[in-house]
Amino acid sequence: MTKKIVLQKNILSKNDEIAASLRKVFDDHHIRAINIMASPGSGKTSLISHTLNEFKHDYSIAVIDGDIVDLDLKKIQSHQVQTVLANTGGACHLDAVMMNKAVQEIDLQNVDLLIVENVGNLICPANFKLGTHVNVVVSSVPEGDDKPVKYPSMFKGADVVILNKIDYLEIEDFDTQKFSRDVQRINPTMELFFVSCKTGEGLKDWFSWLRQHELKQ
Ligand code: MG
Ligand code: ZN
Repeated sequence: MTKKIVLQKNILSKNDEIAASLRKVFDDHHIRAINIMASPGSGKTSLISHTLNEFKHDYSIAVIDGDIVDLDLKKIQSHQVQTVLANTGGACHLDAVMMNKAVQEIDLQNVDLLIVENVGNLICPANFKLGTHVNVVVSSVPEGDDKPVKYPSMFKGADVVILNKIDYLEIEDFDTQKFSRDVQRINPTMELFFVSCKTGEGLKDWFSWLRQHELKQ
């Protein structure tokens, strides 16, 4: 093995160690944590906003925003939930060290659901565990139906795929069957939701999955 590969392996195993201890912290506090990953512009912040609207009155929710600038954070803050900007220092993904720092700033006693908006990127966030229970990949119709084939490791590591912007299906050449087939082939146990954060279509299926699987107490 080359030195570079060994170094990369060490970084990842250190990351996994911190992620495991974060998972324990979440479990000890009865917090469910979800990591939302996507390329820029696919609608992570809109999805989080809709999700907050649905659940913020029944559950205590905190959001960690891994964006480089705080534009999206301001949108999330308008929901009056705990928010923390994770300082990625311009990095293309969140890692467990950054996550750990952000988690320190949250009043954990008072959280049921922790939502992490990862940095917009479909390549490396998959390699860095954050201790979250659920990994969600948001993809969107204008990005094209080839994303699962192009970025298999993102889709392989996810539990849920949300295809956003289905209101574009009429004008884009997007094969939903091919998309579903490719997702299933990469990860047969994947939950797949087709939604439009613009029209609200399909969101209730995502909400009921989240309620059933993560928030039922
Ligand atoms: Mg965003
Ligand atoms: Zn990265």
